Amino acid sequence: MSNESTASSNFIEDIIESDIRNNKNNGEVVTRFPPEPNGYLHIGHAKSICLNFGLAKKYKGRCHLRFDDTNPGKEDVEYVDSIMEDVKWLGFDWGRHLYYASDYFDRLYDYAVQLIKEGKAYVCDLNADEIRKYRGTLKEPGKESPYRNRSVEENLDLFARMKAGEFANGERVLRAKIDMKSGNINMRDPVIYRIQKSEHHRTGNIWCIYPMYDFTHCLSDSLEEITHSICTLEFENNRPLYDWVLDELKVKRHPQQIEFARLNLNYTVMSKRRLLELVKGGYVKGWDDPRMPTISGLRRRGFTPEAIRDFCERIGVAKADSVVDIALLEHCLREDLNRRAARVMAVLRPVKVIIDNYPEGKTEDLQAENNPEDALAGTRMIPFSRELYIEEEDFMENPPKKYFRLSLGQEVRLKHAYIIKCKRIVKDEKTGQVNELHCSYDPKTKSGSSEENRKVKGTLHWVSAQHAADAEVRLYEHLFSKENPDSGEEDYKKNINPLSFELLTGCKVEPSLLNVKHGTNYQFLRQGYFCVDPDSSGKMPVFNRTVSLRDTWAKIKKKEGK
Ligand code: ATP
Ligand code: MG
Repeated sequence: MSNESTASSNFIEDIIESDIRNNKNNGEVVTRFPPEPNGYLHIGHAKSICLNFGLAKKYKGRCHLRFDDTNPGKEDVEYVDSIMEDVKWLGFDWGRHLYYASDYFDRLYDYAVQLIKEGKAYVCDLNADEIRKYRGTLKEPGKESPYRNRSVEENLDLFARMKAGEFANGERVLRAKIDMKSGNINMRDPVIYRIQKSEHHRTGNIWCIYPMYDFTHCLSDSLEEITHSICTLEFENNRPLYDWVLDELKVKRHPQQIEFARLNLNYTVMSKRRLLELVKGGYVKGWDDPRMPTISGLRRRGFTPEAIRDFCERIGVAKADSVVDIALLEHCLREDLNRRAARVMAVLRPVKVIIDNYPEGKTEDLQAENNPEDALAGTRMIPFSRELYIEEEDFMENPPKKYFRLSLGQEVRLKHAYIIKCKRIVKDEKTGQVNELHCSYDPKTKSGSSEENRKVKGTLHWVSAQHAADAEVRLYEHLFSKENPDSGEEDYKKNINPLSFELLTGCKVEPSLLNVKHGTNYQFLRQGYFCVDPDSSGKMPVFNRTVSLRDTWAKIKKKEGK
């Protein structure tokens, strides 16, 4: 269903529409996308971005971009910048609504003081290990901290001194005073402030205590007057704490937290911790390695924002976790690229063809259509001459039956050009490798001309040897060879696909591919979709294979009769 439609299409839209009908929040819809700037965004984040910005658009509200930057040790401006770039590239706009949790540090501190004054928070001297032991388990209730009943005055004094830097990391924390016997472990006096003496990328060294996620998130939502705070399922058990903080502090705005199932994809890992390890450990070439599930990796690979948005819409929003087949993502991409990518000819593993009866020194310009799926895409001219390259695998000396490509004595059509017949093979005397294929052409078979008089089964792509440009081509497969590479049975890095990257140098591409713009998508005829890599130079274009032409998703659906 399209974004523009008014019918609700999932349970979150049902909630929002009911709220609008009841004039809750004056009928306003305000959402937010709250990344922690500790890594690059991935395709899972894209789902959350499309959902939050999509809802704001559909219900004429607004969506904030808020950096959840309360963890100075792990965060960096590099991540902040990349996140903004990726959200924009996906096609969304937060307008003037860019926020940082660190903007609220003063107010969050005041809220914490308010809790202390009301006897609802206390400074605790247990260390992290002890706190864990006292917390109990799902089956056993927790035990109260010996520091739980400190006086308000003592708590205020200690908290101020925590802020002033008098204590070491981990020496003391501030905890909410809730219920150590609660069935929900999150409610057993959770830590809401910790000491961490590290420099923050925005507040520098002003603070040495930092608020925890559960305290920060609900209050940031409330301060920004968010109406619907949408997050992934693992936060379901944090919702009572989200509500407790806002209720106890009697804030004016109490957003509703709604959980949905996160996106999981097969043949991929998606946790930021894992992705960081792949980058730092040199298993990939960076966050934007075209095999990474990051937005920047997908972009470099040649994915379009349209295809990613389409994918996010098709997978929908559910309340139960599932794993989506990466073939669906590729299917959405092929559908989009099929409409927009110009068809060109590129020979990845070239072998020379010499047309003996074609005049030496002659060049013909042949007309080629740019995209049969796009009436406005027009045509271009491609040069044809006596010496050409075709794909090595398009010739076989001893072909099996029903081989319709080139072999001795067999005819094939050269796309946009003539029918040729192979007469003679020249091999390297030592290695036996085919060096040249000597052919003849039939001048009465020019494509599109009135003389074109017969058909043959095979059509090959080719380039003119003297006109072709040299190119480098990078082929990619799934980064992991196992569907579920991170099942916990073994180190997920053992499942990295050793064939996920193949470098082809010495490729020959048609001359229109010199000086092409980074990011442009092409279909190399018969080979797949390719995208111009930023490593390209004026003399040597570099192409990433985005995806092959084989659509396994469409095949699966056909089998299922859908
Ligand atoms: P990770 O768990 O991989 O370290 P995270 O979820 O903690 O990442 P955040 O920066 O906190 O990363 O995520 C920002 C927002 O994106 C959150 O609202 C989170 O729920 C959402 N999000 C993260 N991963 C996914 C996913 N796989 N599918 C849908 N939403 C996601
Ligand atoms: Mg998170």
